[in-house]
Amino acid sequence: MTTNLPGFNRRALLLAAGAACAPAFVRHARAADVPRFALGIASGQPRADGMVLWTRLTGAALPERVAVRWEVADDERFTRVVARGEEIAESDGAHSVHAEPRGLKPDRWYWYRFSALGQRSDAGRTRTAPAADADASLDFAIASCQRWDDGHYAAWRDAAASGLDLVMFLGDYIYESAARPNRIRSHEGPLVRTLEQYRARYAQYKSDPALQTAHAACPWLLVWDDHEVDNDYAGLVGQSLQADFAAQRAAAYQAWWEHQPVAKAMRPVGPDLRVVGRLDWGRLARIHLLDDRQYRDPQACPRPDRAGSNTVRTADCAALADPKRSLLGPTQERWLAEGWDLERPWNLVAQQTLMARFSWRDPAVDPTYWTDGWDGYAPSRERLLRDVAARQVPGVVVLGGDVHTNYVADLKPDFDDEKAPVVASEFCGTSIASHGLAQERIDAALPFNPHIKYGRGDRRGYVRFRLDAKRLDAQLRVVEQPLDAGSAVETAARFVVEAGRPGPQPA
Ligand code: FE
Ligand code: CA
Repeated sequence: MTTNLPGFNRRALLLAAGAACAPAFVRHARAADVPRFALGIASGQPRADGMVLWTRLTGAALPERVAVRWEVADDERFTRVVARGEEIAESDGAHSVHAEPRGLKPDRWYWYRFSALGQRSDAGRTRTAPAADADASLDFAIASCQRWDDGHYAAWRDAAASGLDLVMFLGDYIYESAARPNRIRSHEGPLVRTLEQYRARYAQYKSDPALQTAHAACPWLLVWDDHEVDNDYAGLVGQSLQADFAAQRAAAYQAWWEHQPVAKAMRPVGPDLRVVGRLDWGRLARIHLLDDRQYRDPQACPRPDRAGSNTVRTADCAALADPKRSLLGPTQERWLAEGWDLERPWNLVAQQTLMARFSWRDPAVDPTYWTDGWDGYAPSRERLLRDVAARQVPGVVVLGGDVHTNYVADLKPDFDDEKAPVVASEFCGTSIASHGLAQERIDAALPFNPHIKYGRGDRRGYVRFRLDAKRLDAQLRVVEQPLDAGSAVETAARFVVEAGRPGPQPA
């Protein structure tokens, strides 16, 4: 069983996260006063016997190699330390630390912290996964798209305080765009292209106290989407068809690895980094982490002189029906098909974007699709969903982001057939901060897509879930005032999925 941590002092954690940022404004500080943990701490990739603990040292005049000590305790006061160790933070890894304690007990909450150069980080809380053969429940959130200059992160404060076991971050952690005028807050620097620029952009995002609080509250699983690298990129093709895109992707993936609580072994080799993976949560669920970006074919029928997304009529774009084109790539398609869990009641698929078909016009007359999402790779989607049906995979729930809209949908191999069986459920979460589409446009298209039960692009937030062996309970949490860091957050809608009965139902 998972339980909320009894000793967790939320207020202390919030205060600590806020305090970590404040000294950045102190001028002429002595070396000992330069904050070394100004980007906070994080944990991720929980296993039954451990997890990854992350931080990155900050401040001027850091030595090339710095010893960083870490400790894990049973209690908030660190009176019962159960694991400790030392990592070397090096300049060629941006002085990031990826510590991997092992030998911890399954299904348990822990506290962790770091120390280096005479300073100690704030403490975070994290947990292990339940043992593979143990009964379990899971409180988790999906989140995506936290564009810095579109709004504040009130959603993260709400998520951090809501007793989550796990956050699944589904892409667009940073945006690579240059600063724009007249924003609520501004990106620093130009359009991001180099390793130093990606590092600086992560440092800016990670300076946000609400985001730090969410990282310190529980472990995260992360996948990425396009903006961690370049808008609408596909494999080794950048949106502007830039000549040096492999080098850009290598820099972007390196910076992603440096700034996330992921294993040392995931450090990229050139432009390649494997984020695809699985995590079993007791006997309850298998979580499949997919990568929609690195292995995809380029988008079909782009606009002239560039790559990337377009919105096209199928009548004008024969490539949309080409069965050889894939969003996941053939290797990942096979990996997913062979790894469905037929024993556990739930298979959670953490990926980047809306999977349900979404036609912008009446599909009986003039089917019209956005090519960057699954609609741009419909045969690839049909293969996946037919496979789910053929193998009778239990409890498939597809989780996504990217489109800055809350969509709740039935997934079927054939969306044109209203009577086709529903084989899976989908929750595509809205953005933490990034602007969404005009609601009138979504409302105009929803009647063409009756398998989509809910579609709201005018609210920011995240989706909070409670999962047990019998049901999935989803709350669409939305921010009242996206420009206010202290905004209230409310539940816009609730849905449930009953085990053995695919398709979300209004609760
Ligand atoms: Fe986005
Ligand atoms: Ca995106």
